[in-house]
Order: sequence, then C-alpha cells, then structure tokens
Amino acid sequence: MATDGLDRKRVEFLALAEAAFGRMFGDDGQNGLVTFAQREQRACEVTDELARWLMAEHVAQDPAGETSAQDDCPICGGPSPYPSARRDRPQVRELMTRRGKIAYRRAAARCPRCRKIFFPAG
Ligand SMILES: [Zn+2]
Repeated sequence: MATDGLDRKRVEFLALAEAAFGRMFGDDGQNGLVTFAQREQRACEVTDELARWLMAEHVAQDPAGETSAQDDCPICGGPSPYPSARRDRPQVRELMTRRGKIAYRRAAARCPRCRKIFFPAG
C-alpha cells in the first residue's frame, strides 16, 4: 500500500482507538462501569472491535488478494483457457476469527466452466 494510504489507515485506526478509550473511561474516568465484570466486558468489547478492524483492513491490503486468477476452480476443478475472463467483481467475504466475525472485500474469480465464483488462494 502507498504511504499516504497507510497514513490514512493510521488516522482511521487512531480515531477508533480514541473512541474505544472514551467508551471505557468516559468523561469521568469510570463511564458508569462499576463491577469488575462490567469493566472486563467493556474492555473486551472495545478491543475485540479494534482487533476485527485490524484484521479486516490488513487482509484487505494483501496484494495476493488482487492477483491470481491462476488457480483451478475449487468447485469443478476446471482451469480456464481464458484467464482474462475469470476476474469477477470483488466480493464481500466473511471469516470467523477468535475475536468475532469480520467481513472484507476480496478479489474473486468466476469459473467459465461451472460459472461459480471463488476466491483465489492467498
Ligand atoms: Zn468450476
């Protein structure tokens, strides 16, 4: 990713981290959280959200997701004789992580034999 794109992502992340801090501490340093269980719950919620954002943004920047319609179709096994025809619009892909479900856009390919969309490896 170009440096300016990375800088934009950094600014975006820091704004999310700022908001997470606010949800934990509020204006009074407590934000209505009284019991340890409440504090733990809130801390885990806000950091899980940050972790999901980091994972989704990181995988979205993976250059391997942009290349590659070279794989054989994982559904019917058919390789394409027309590589240029195999690209398809990026698809939203969901993945369950240890911190919950993330969604990200990923390059996709369409098999010219069975017409199914699949995600190139990487
Ligand atoms: Zn196929």
